[in-house]
Amino acid sequence: MRIERLSVREIELPLRAPFVTALGPVTNRRLLLVELEDGDGTAAWGECVAGVVPGYTSETVDTAWATITDQLAPEVVGLDSEDPSGAIAAMDDIAAGQPMARAAVEMACWDLAARRARLPLAQLLGGTRTEVAAGIALGMAETPEETAAAAAGAVRQGYQRVKLKIEPGADLEVVRAVRGTVGDRIALTVDANCSYTRNDFDLLAALDEFRLQMIEQPLPADDWEGHADLQRRLTTPVCLDESIATVTDLDRMIALQAGRVLNLKPGRVGGFTAALTMIDLAVGNGIDVWVGGMLETGVGRAHNVALASLASIELPGDLSPSDRYWEEDIVDPPWTMVRGTLPVPLTEPGIGVDVDLERIRSLTTRVQEVRSAH
Ligand SMILES: [Mg+2]
Repeated sequence: MRIERLSVREIELPLRAPFVTALGPVTNRRLLLVELEDGDGTAAWGECVAGVVPGYTSETVDTAWATITDQLAPEVVGLDSEDPSGAIAAMDDIAAGQPMARAAVEMACWDLAARRARLPLAQLLGGTRTEVAAGIALGMAETPEETAAAAAGAVRQGYQRVKLKIEPGADLEVVRAVRGTVGDRIALTVDANCSYTRNDFDLLAALDEFRLQMIEQPLPADDWEGHADLQRRLTTPVCLDESIATVTDLDRMIALQAGRVLNLKPGRVGGFTAALTMIDLAVGNGIDVWVGGMLETGVGRAHNVALASLASIELPGDLSPSDRYWEEDIVDPPWTMVRGTLPVPLTEPGIGVDVDLERIRSLTTRVQEVRSAH
């Protein structure tokens, strides 16, 4: 098998409504899509989860563009190997520190492998679920009441878990309003996106009374001891997200007992190979895992749903249908929610949804194609 072509495109997809987190609002999602084509004309897709500005991590759309075009494409295009795992291995020693760029190409390789093996991607990854539990992440609103109303709406739609974005000054009252509105039975979590410090432990401990399923990434990504101290103080499980970029990070989380839950985003950790290793390691050490989201299009959603179909992923993920974020997605069919779940596509090889090339072309702001020389 030979990879004949790698295309990387930047598209700009308008969100239905701005999504506000502790990092600020996003109104238009700029993101990169990677398309691979082999010698038989089979095409496969990956999506890069990096944002426009550094903040979530240091990677951005622009750093990922450079990494993919300058470092990864020359390594992968023209490569002859038994199957796409050869291309994945070829990327091992490059793009260190650029896991989001690498993941976009790595996950396209997995899609290609699945298509070549005539298997749904979920099955190639070892997934056995036919549907995955859908959770929603609510951005910050102007008032606690507004967030509570949005949470109530999400519960009515059938979401199995509601996650609230919080930051200092917009926390206890928001959670109180939401819990008071949706009641005790709905699973509720909060995500601080690193916005608290060690001075905030009393406030964070006050969240215990709301019986949250977890509190996600309260402290800066590199504050391992802080998270460990905080976890000892809280009955609510601490979940790490931004802290975990590599398997080594997860090792450290386990050794320090810096949390009890892992928000795993294959697009953040370098792709599926690392994600699968992390799932085994986490579950083997009593850490619950769920699959997060990064304002993906339907392509990234397909990768995340495939991973969430593993039996060892027991908590609902940030996996919502296409119309949660997009007026019109770039895949056909769009992702829909059925009784609080997203059905895992199991009838087609690969990611299981068709990519709408015409729509992608209309959204493309730049494209670079690398073809193999013959
Ligand atoms: Mg998060």
